[in-house]
Amino acid sequence: MIVHFAIFLCTLVAMEGVGFLAHKYVMHGWGWFLHRSHHEPHLGVVETNDVYLLVLALVAITLIVLGNAGHDPLQWIGAGVAAFGILYVVIHDGVVHRHWPARPKPRHPYLRRLYQAHLMHHAVKGRRNSVSFGFLYAPPVHELKRQLREMRDSEARVEDGRQGDFLDEARG
Ligand SMILES: [Zn+2]
Ligand SMILES: [Zn+2]
Repeated sequence: MIVHFAIFLCTLVAMEGVGFLAHKYVMHGWGWFLHRSHHEPHLGVVETNDVYLLVLALVAITLIVLGNAGHDPLQWIGAGVAAFGILYVVIHDGVVHRHWPARPKPRHPYLRRLYQAHLMHHAVKGRRNSVSFGFLYAPPVHELKRQLREMRDSEARVEDGRQGDFLDEARG
């Protein structure tokens, strides 16, 4: 039982890492066409971004079914995936984006930090140069502000470089 619970908790923690990587490299990468709806101003009740939630649910259900069919401890890994999905819906959709009729206010310092960090994720337009890709863990806000500044500076440098090339060409 203890081992099972440990597997459940480890999966939940690991899922934050999986979620971070998926958000940064898949959802803001080749999967942007699905995630994009989530970064547009008019958020509906359902958005194409929810496809990712559906995939998560399918993975959790498959693992639980396989575990119950005798492939122990897959059901506990599935439970960890499911728990991550539920926390994601409650915290991300409920507390941060307030998609629900009841709009819980983030009072707890942990929730407030997640809230501010995720607003900063949404502050960047488009899929590139965003910060804070985690869902249940967020770095301190001052650290994210520093990352955003750095990103803007390097972007400006690239722009300057391009303009420089253009001028050189025009002169040459
Ligand atoms: Zn995003
Ligand atoms: Zn969001």
